Order: sequence, then structure tokens, then C-alpha cells
Amino acid sequence: MIHQRARIVAVVVGGALALLAASRLQAQGDPKDTEVWTPVPTVVTPGVGSAAPSDAIVLFDGKDLSQWERSPDGSAPRWTIDKSGVVTGGGGAGDIRTKRGFGDCQLHVEWRTPAKVEGEGQGRGNSGVYLMGRYEVQVLDSYNNPTYSNGQAASIYKQGIPLVNASRPPGEWQSYDIFFRAPHFNADGSVKTPAYVTVVHNGVLVQDHFEIKGGTVYIGQPRYEKHGDREPVLLQDHGNPVAYRNIWIREL
Ligand code: MG
Repeated sequence: MIHQRARIVAVVVGGALALLAASRLQAQGDPKDTEVWTPVPTVVTPGVGSAAPSDAIVLFDGKDLSQWERSPDGSAPRWTIDKSGVVTGGGGAGDIRTKRGFGDCQLHVEWRTPAKVEGEGQGRGNSGVYLMGRYEVQVLDSYNNPTYSNGQAASIYKQGIPLVNASRPPGEWQSYDIFFRAPHFNADGSVKTPAYVTVVHNGVLVQDHFEIKGGTVYIGQPRYEKHGDREPVLLQDHGNPVAYRNIWIREL
């Protein structure tokens, strides 16, 4: 008898609670009407440390330059790979560029300027990472090496001064993590939306969604020239023997 009464009470209380919850939901509306529920993110296995995540395209893993060609003639790259899996350019070997093109991307690059300091200013450990073959994130030994600030390491050459100088000493490995949004053009060649770049240098934010003004030229007003949606990543030979390793890219 007591059990039966308790069961009735439980059913009544349960029903009342359910009604209360339903009326609350009705009052608040369905969360799916006011919140973002899709898409469900694709699973990506992150790399250990700075290793490439599972959805990255590995551009250089220390073995070969099969993803690269010499620029501008498209012949085999003349940069040298040593036993430790490091590739070194400079010395007139020419620029190298990826065989495939990329637009919006996340790019990881590790680079090292010579331990033995030679030259000064722009002549010391100069190279560069060019997005779409046109927009240079400067590579330079900027450790106690005064030069024009819009041309030091992690500058968007001649356009964007880095927020801070996060350089490591010469001979040490440094990293760039670059987040790039490609420009878009109207049919008449005018700019629909400019390019934007965010750069993290050795783990430090140095370019924060910087609006690129056009090709990174040495002298003169930068301007855009219409180009494809996907263009190669290019590494510069500026004469100095700058080394690279662990290069990977994710298309966004
Ligand atoms: Mg350069």
C-alpha cells in the first residue's frame, strides 16, 4: 500500500517536472534555432611538437626536394640537402618554389641563419618565405643586427614591421607559423579583397592579421597584380647560406 502510494507520487512528480522542462524549452526555443551546431569538425591528428599534422602536405621532410623546382625556370632545384636532413640555399643556387600552388593556408617553416656571422644589415642571413610567390615574410638574422625595421626578420617586406623582434641568435633554429588569406580579384583586375597574414615567430605573435598592400617590392608603392587563386610558395636565394627544415602546409 505504502509502495503503491510512493509510486503514484513519483509518477506525478516526474510528470510535473517533465511538463516544466517542456514549457521551459518552449519559452527558450530550440537551441538549434539560436546556436551553431554544424558542421562537425573533421578529425585531425596533431603532430608531436612541430611535426606536421595528419592533414598537412609535407613540403620538405629532410629527404628530398620532390615538391620543389627552381624559380623562375622550373628546372631541378640546386639547393643542397645534407645528411642531417637540412636543405640550404643561397650562393646563387636560385630561388625555389613549390610545384603546386596554394591559396589560403597555414604554413610551418623552420630556418637557420649561419652561425658564423658575416656581413651586416640586409646582407646577414637574408632569405625569405614568399606566399603566392609575391608576398615576402622576411627571413634575416635580426639578432643584434640593426637594419630598416620594415625589412627585419618577420617583416612583411617594406610593408609590415613585426610587432616585436623575437629572433634567436645566429646558428639556432627558428620557426615561422604563417596564417595566410589569399587576395581575391574582380574580373577587371581590381582588388576585391586584399591578402591578410598572421605570423608567429618562435611562438611569438609578430604579424596580427596584417593587410598586405600588394607585392613586396624593394622600392616603390606596393600594388596588386591579378593572379591565380593558387600560386607557389617560394623560398628566396638572397646570396646567404640560409638553411631550412620541416616545412609543411595546410590548405584552409
Ligand atoms: Mg629576403
